[in-house]
Amino acid sequence: MLELKNITKIYHVGDVETRALDDVSLSFREKEFVAILGTSGSGKTTGLNIIGGLDRYDSGDLIINGKSTKKFKDKEWDAYRNNSIGFIFQSYNLISHLSIVANVEMGMTLSGVSASEKHRRAYEALEKVGLKDHIHKKPNQLSGGQMQRVAIARALANDPEILLCDEPTGALDTATSVQIMDLIKEIAGDKLVIMVTHNPELAEKYADRIVRFQDGKVISDSNPYEASEEKKEFSLNKTSMSFLTALRLSANNIKTKLGRTFLTSFASSIGIIGIALILSLSVGFQMQIDKFESDTLQQMPIIISQQSVNLDMETMMKMGEDQNKYKSYPTDKKVFLFDSMQETMMHTNAFTEEYLDYIDHMDKLLCKGVTYSRLVNMNMLRKDGEKYIPVTAANLNFSPYPLSFDEDQNELLKEHYEVLAGNMPEEPTDVILIVDAKNRINKTVMAELGFTETEEIDFDKIVGIEFKVIMNNDYYIKTEGEIYTLNTDFEKMYNSPDTLTLKVCGIIRPSEDSPVSQFTEGGGISYNDNLSQLIIENAKNSDIVKAQTASDNNVLSMEPLDEEAKKQTIAYLGGNELPFIIQLYPQDFESKDKIIEYLDNYNNGLDKSEQIIYTDMASAISSMSDGIMDGITIVLIAFAGTNLIVSLIMIAILTYTSVLERTKEIGILKALGARKKDITRVFNAETFILGIASGLLGILIAKGLTYPVNAIIYSLTELKDVAQLKITHSVILIAISTLLTMLGGFIPARMAAKRDAVDALRSE
Ligand code: ADP
Ligand code: MG
Repeated sequence: MLELKNITKIYHVGDVETRALDDVSLSFREKEFVAILGTSGSGKTTGLNIIGGLDRYDSGDLIINGKSTKKFKDKEWDAYRNNSIGFIFQSYNLISHLSIVANVEMGMTLSGVSASEKHRRAYEALEKVGLKDHIHKKPNQLSGGQMQRVAIARALANDPEILLCDEPTGALDTATSVQIMDLIKEIAGDKLVIMVTHNPELAEKYADRIVRFQDGKVISDSNPYEASEEKKEFSLNKTSMSFLTALRLSANNIKTKLGRTFLTSFASSIGIIGIALILSLSVGFQMQIDKFESDTLQQMPIIISQQSVNLDMETMMKMGEDQNKYKSYPTDKKVFLFDSMQETMMHTNAFTEEYLDYIDHMDKLLCKGVTYSRLVNMNMLRKDGEKYIPVTAANLNFSPYPLSFDEDQNELLKEHYEVLAGNMPEEPTDVILIVDAKNRINKTVMAELGFTETEEIDFDKIVGIEFKVIMNNDYYIKTEGEIYTLNTDFEKMYNSPDTLTLKVCGIIRPSEDSPVSQFTEGGGISYNDNLSQLIIENAKNSDIVKAQTASDNNVLSMEPLDEEAKKQTIAYLGGNELPFIIQLYPQDFESKDKIIEYLDNYNNGLDKSEQIIYTDMASAISSMSDGIMDGITIVLIAFAGTNLIVSLIMIAILTYTSVLERTKEIGILKALGARKKDITRVFNAETFILGIASGLLGILIAKGLTYPVNAIIYSLTELKDVAQLKITHSVILIAISTLLTMLGGFIPARMAAKRDAVDALRSE
């Protein structure tokens, strides 16, 4: 059934050659107890290893059940070792970090026997070798004889056809040796047992047949056997170790070096900690920014001004070019002439009726409100006792509030402001005092309205105050020619029937939950755009506007005017109703995009000079902030990422060390029929555990660190809970850690798998 034909095995150590087996031919019966006897170094072990498939021969043929092993593939050898052979070694070769039972079960584990079946057979085998009472001990808690019994139990548990014993009593005292030999003899009853020894007495006492070896040659055989030529059916179960088994094996191994494992996990978790913290901060800040954007930036209007700063790509590039053209602090004795930056950047938006119509026809639902600011100067007077005093619009911070698109409603005011006194404006001549969240108002505003107080003023003193707008024909007096001067008879102007009386109808301030809208900055008096339209309506037909329209000189100062300046002067006098600035308040972020699209559409196909450019502060700010956040995050992650590379190398080193440490185990596993794949699995399992451990540890520590980090950020910025570790990020990071760690351990694991079983077993 088992046959060696002219087998030769040569070892080379440097130039020195050893013939461990030299043309050996031997046949074995299905059931017999063969002792291979010889002095040390005579080639016995090599012979046994070749029979057991641990070692390969250089020439000759090993025939198992009539089938030559020449064409055996790796997996067939693995299956053969696992199913057909039981090994008992001189030095027991137990896996020290596994329990006795687990050691005995290992062969079955590799062939995928079910857990309960494994247990049953392991207990049976251990009982048979007399270790029933020691079952829960670790190998290193046993005596030599007991360990050898475990090894025998391990060999028996799989019920092999052939039992190979390499000097099984070599490390035992005489009394124990006898016990072990009795045990082997008992087993030998229904198996082929091949025992290597250099003890002739043992051989003679127990073996049925003695084969003597010397220098790798067979020199005598007490009971030779000629193999029959009949071929038996040769079939083997394939072995396979599940990843779970590999995990358990490695987990047990890791338990024996917990301290080191913890330190390694900790060290390699630092990269993960760094990245996790950076991500949590970046997520947090992004959330803060988003919140800020939707709260505040949403309230920022899209501004379309007749005079606009052009910030498009082309202009920026040109600016860059201009800047690069000239060196700073040149030594040349010259001055350089250049185009003022302003000229390249300023864009004049020529508003036309057509454009205003276009704006007017925008989808009403997109805009919450719109503010038209016009250039018209409002000439105002107030009465203080018997005196009449001019009121300067600029000092009042006199600005229009937004109106809804179609109905001239002040929805935006109602939405974002609370009424402190009086009521919201209703008439075009109602003006409203806007104070800030602290009820503050600029001194000049109140002074302009005639208040002498310097600290505080009661609401009811303010509500109801009136002042008047004087129309052009009263305000400007025509002198000789077409020259106009300002009327100084305030009383007459004030009492003219053509005035408009403005009334402060109420006091409002931004409501608590509403972000401060831009048009209230500094506080002041705000008016309805319809008021300016009323004034312009009147002014258009006034004498001074007619005169100014006809003249190329300023009719007040007689200064000559160019075309642009003339237009402005007319607008200032109220002769032009085209707004100077349009502010559009989008309903929400989405509608803002639509508004912008709508505005862009207007420019399609238009000449650059005819295009109308708008300013969208909100998106400028948010795209800038997004860009900066992304940039910072990437840079920081790259930094932290280098830590991961360091971990990777560390893990590779650790796995390599582990491979060295576990060489013996690799040999044992191979002797028990473990495949290369299984060995790789054992180490992959180890790095897997390490990777998960360091990932988890990293996430845990990072999570722990977010608390102090948040406390610090809170004390610095009053922003709450900025650092937030997302679950998805945590999972991804643990996965990355595991993957990288396994990557680091991959090459050492492959090295381990490739190790020669014999070499591995020989290593100490
Ligand atoms: P023994 O009869 O004592 O069991 P072995 O079969 O172990 O002897 O070894 C026979 C000879 O082959 C010895 O000289 C040994 O040094 C050599 N040998 C065995 N295995 C190897 C090996 N892996 N590398 C180098 N030499 C080896
Ligand atoms: Mg030997």
